Amino acid sequence: MKDKYQRKIDYMRISVTDRCNLRCVYCMPPEGVAPKGHEEILTFEEILRVVQAATQVGIRKIRLTGGEPLVRKGIPSLVESLADVPGIEDLALTTNGILLADMAKDLHRKGLRRVNISLDTLDPKRYRALTRGGDIRRVWQGIEAALKIGFDPVKINVVVMADGNLDELSAFADLTRNLPLHVRFIEVMPLDRNAQGHGYVSVREMQAAVQDKLVPCPGPQGAGPARYYRLEGALGTVGFISPISRHFCGTCNRLRLTADGVVRPCLCSTRGVPLRDILRSGLDDEGLVDLLAQAIASKPREHNLREGACNVPMSQIGG
Ligand code: SAM
Ligand code: SF4
Repeated sequence: MKDKYQRKIDYMRISVTDRCNLRCVYCMPPEGVAPKGHEEILTFEEILRVVQAATQVGIRKIRLTGGEPLVRKGIPSLVESLADVPGIEDLALTTNGILLADMAKDLHRKGLRRVNISLDTLDPKRYRALTRGGDIRRVWQGIEAALKIGFDPVKINVVVMADGNLDELSAFADLTRNLPLHVRFIEVMPLDRNAQGHGYVSVREMQAAVQDKLVPCPGPQGAGPARYYRLEGALGTVGFISPISRHFCGTCNRLRLTADGVVRPCLCSTRGVPLRDILRSGLDDEGLVDLLAQAIASKPREHNLREGACNVPMSQIGG
């Protein structure tokens, strides 16, 4: 279905939990965020119903995210049900990778083919500091497992911070020489207090740090809003994502479903459609399709991130 700005909306990002096993400095306060009760979170059956209805308004691609999606029990069985929904053509996952090594095989067997792994530094000590306690070795085990099992593409998300990892962009780009990894450098979005104050770096500045080495190239499957480059002869690619300095709202194709069942037409939208209680009070499929169509119709022309109007961390929206 198209929204009122003629954008075709075919992508839904689903947050399956607001919980996380890390506390990244730009995403969470040190003490974490009070988790929602289990009864507040959509069940797998409810998520499946929403996805089935979403195919009726044209959703074809699903990404599971969070919080950390792999901390929720039973994710492979959710993957299996979603992969079977007629109309869903593409199923992907965004994870911090900590639990991936143990689950990668099962996820792949159940139908997941694409994975984005978040890794903001290559230095173990820095990783521990940026994630407040994470063990980078586990992320590497997850990346290696994903490559070995045959996930394709395997993308690495790097949120770039002036006071955190700007000096590592070359090293990240070098990773793509011998590994078929698609590293994407992302501008930090000032969603809330946690995300502000780490030294915003624009894509232009990131490119200046590595550009002399890169040539433009097409992106991997599911390329989305990134612009892609390649080191000569490299197996992988390097992408840049600029949600702030050159936002891509004009071609935005997504809806978000929060863990507690609110459909958000835009990252920072305050006009979400709360589905959970209506679903639980017996809403029929036709009513559900209508609500999803309403969410699409209310998609704003562009996000209001620059004004800092959001004040919700990414972990609570579903990144
Ligand atoms: N826990 C998983 C992970 O870290 O990959 C999935 C959820 S996380 C919220 C999804 C993505 O959002 C991660 O790549 C993370 O780095 C990114 N993210 C979180 N807060 C952000 C912010 N303020 N600006 C830009 N990216 C952000
Ligand atoms: Fe957790 Fe992902 Fe947020 Fe880091 S970015 S705190 S891993 S939800």
